[in-house]
Amino acid sequence: MHYDAIIIGAGHNGLTTAAYLAKAGRKVLMLERRDIVGGCAVTEEVDPELAPGCRVSTASYIANMLRPTIIKDLKLISYGLKMVTCDPGMQAAFDDGDVVGWWSDEDKMRASAHATLVSAPPSTYHAASVAISVLQWILHC
Ligand SMILES: Cc1cc2nc3c(=O)[nH]c(=O)nc-3n(C[C@H](O)[C@H](O)[C@H](O)COP(=O)(O)OP(=O)(O)OC[C@H]3O[C@@H](n4cnc5c(N)ncnc54)[C@H](O)[C@@H]3O)c2cc1C
Repeated sequence: MHYDAIIIGAGHNGLTTAAYLAKAGRKVLMLERRDIVGGCAVTEEVDPELAPGCRVSTASYIANMLRPTIIKDLKLISYGLKMVTCDPGMQAAFDDGDVVGWWSDEDKMRASAHATLVSAPPSTYHAASVAISVLQWILHC
């Protein structure tokens, strides 16, 4: 069989390329080694026994680089794409079961961090504050 293009790997870059080529009338063969497409941007069930039905993104956690042009060109909304704001955007889980959420609302975030870390040694609190500030700086860049 003849193909205009063969794409190896159905991650989001391969899928996007294949979609644009197919849209332009090219005959495309896409090969993926897994039984699910999406690559690092996949949403899948992690543990069917311990958490049946619980589907999560197993690598990428935020779609901050998906260009609006692609959403529009490929009519992704009509295929069910829905952008959901993550709030809290990040969570740190500790061995004792405590979870610190990084909320978009600064007061809420500080309260969450304070409630969990207030009983921790000052060094832990300081390390967590620095980590949160660095993450905040990175994501606002
Ligand atoms: C832990 C982690 C977290 C990340 N978080 C974010 C994030 O939050 N936001 C963000 O924008 N980016 C994030 N990234 C980066 C983002 O995931 C990558 O830039 C993106 O997945 C690259 O897409 P891709 O299609 O090029 O490759 P991939 O997503 O890696 O897809 C490659 C595909 O090729 C398949 N494949 C490989 N070899 C073969 C073969 N020989 N034959 C057949 N199939 C093959 C793989 O199974 C896979 O499906 C993260 C990356 C990692 C690793």
